[in-house]
Amino acid sequence: MPRPPLSDVVVCTACGVESAGGAGVCPICADERQYVPADGQRWVSRSELEASGRRIGIAEAEAGLLSLRTSPKTGIGQTCYLAQRPERDGQEGRDGRAGRAGTGGFLFDVPPYIDDAAVEAVAALGGIGAIVASHPHMYGMQLEWSAAFDGVPVFVSRRDAEWLQRTGPAIELFDGEIEPLPGVRVREVGGHFPGSSVALWRSPEDGALVMLGGDTISPVARRGWVTFMRSFPNYLPLSAAVVRRIAAAVADLDVERIYGNFGQRLLSGGSRAIAESAERYAAWVSGAYDHLT
Ligand SMILES: [Zn+2]
Ligand SMILES: [Zn+2]
Repeated sequence: MPRPPLSDVVVCTACGVESAGGAGVCPICADERQYVPADGQRWVSRSELEASGRRIGIAEAEAGLLSLRTSPKTGIGQTCYLAQRPERDGQEGRDGRAGRAGTGGFLFDVPPYIDDAAVEAVAALGGIGAIVASHPHMYGMQLEWSAAFDGVPVFVSRRDAEWLQRTGPAIELFDGEIEPLPGVRVREVGGHFPGSSVALWRSPEDGALVMLGGDTISPVARRGWVTFMRSFPNYLPLSAAVVRRIAAAVADLDVERIYGNFGQRLLSGGSRAIAESAERYAAWVSGAYDHLT
């Protein structure tokens, strides 16, 4: 495929979010949910990153769902997901033409990096038809990825649009719930950011409803538990009311598996885990267990 023109985009080295200007302190990192590293704010260009020997590793999370991770760690170090279109199992969509809107897969949370090898690998997996980040920390190089796939739409929650550090014609603001591609739903549930969203995709293998939770609904170390946070690096919790609101926003779903944006996975009973975890969390932040502290 022709090499997309290398833009002069820069990313913040701490959060990995692309910026048109890159001057001064990154607003995303200056916010209380993030941090400016002790050695100061730095911006790095796409070509500098490319010259640094980085690469994107692609692995199968489960059938039809790929995980993408940039190494060495870049920005926050997120795991991104590419949900392939089911018709890849047939002839349709397998002609190797990347980026035709409506045929490619769904990229959720976006690598803070892109290079020819990654674009070619994703094209070989069916390409990209739509891009959504769960929240501003995961914007990554979303417009670069869109440009590499014929300018496919990058859907951004209107409630978080103030955090965009770079805009372009591919950006489409959304409210509430959207279906960026047939069979994929993205639902704003709030919490970590007002527009924090989850993606919902049905496994072609076993028909289970799979949630890509971003930083919105996050599987944790203990099996069957998830959490919800205002800030992960700074350990700022949310209120009981907000956590219950998040759980209520997905209570109509029968979620089986949940994948977090740091590779965490909860492999069964997703909806039950969300409901139980929300109640446990709400009890803790409401003082129900203060006698244990
Ligand atoms: Zn930043
Ligand atoms: Zn975040």
